[in-house]
Amino acid sequence: MLLSRSYRLEKGYLPISLLKEFVYCPRYAYWLVFGRPKDIITESMRIGKDYTYDELTHILREEGYLGRIHTNVFLRSEKLRLEGYVDAVIEQDSYVHIAEMKKLTQASKRILWKKKSHILVQGMAYAIAAEETFKKTIGDVVIILKDKIIRVKPKPSLRITVENYTKQLWDMIEKEEIPPAKRSSKCYYCQFRNVCF
Ligand code: SF4
Repeated sequence: MLLSRSYRLEKGYLPISLLKEFVYCPRYAYWLVFGRPKDIITESMRIGKDYTYDELTHILREEGYLGRIHTNVFLRSEKLRLEGYVDAVIEQDSYVHIAEMKKLTQASKRILWKKKSHILVQGMAYAIAAEETFKKTIGDVVIILKDKIIRVKPKPSLRITVENYTKQLWDMIEKEEIPPAKRSSKCYYCQFRNVCF
């Protein structure tokens, strides 16, 4: 996911997947936007899609979602100036649920709120965009992990967290300011460790 300057300045929206990377590590998101193309090989580019939409639909039906399921849905939030493709949207009565597959990730609900909050923020950002796109109330944010399925209700505090991160992301992009490097266990696996330090 390398964003060209014209994408950023003319299109006016950032990918929700970039918000996820920003929450993971702001400096990582900076490199994705301003780094050299040869540096950019994201995890998803390396692995590709590891499930089918039939499989996803089957899981959601098993979980009791009986509404109309749309897969690989383009969503946009004018308010957040974010957009992207979510794995699934379920329209059920006056609600819209979103589902994201993270089949390579193992996590408890507690870890999803802390160490892996970038996944949760991404899911909630899709939910906010789905609310705007479908003009329905957000129901569940469904995260399908390797070993379990976690449903999250869209608490106001989670919405505020998404809004705050989005503002910080836009500030970084518009000012082209590189966030400080913070050494952590994430750096050990990071493709940018030789650029950062
Ligand atoms: S090396 Fe560490 S600080 Fe630098 S982008 Fe990667 S995770 Fe972030």
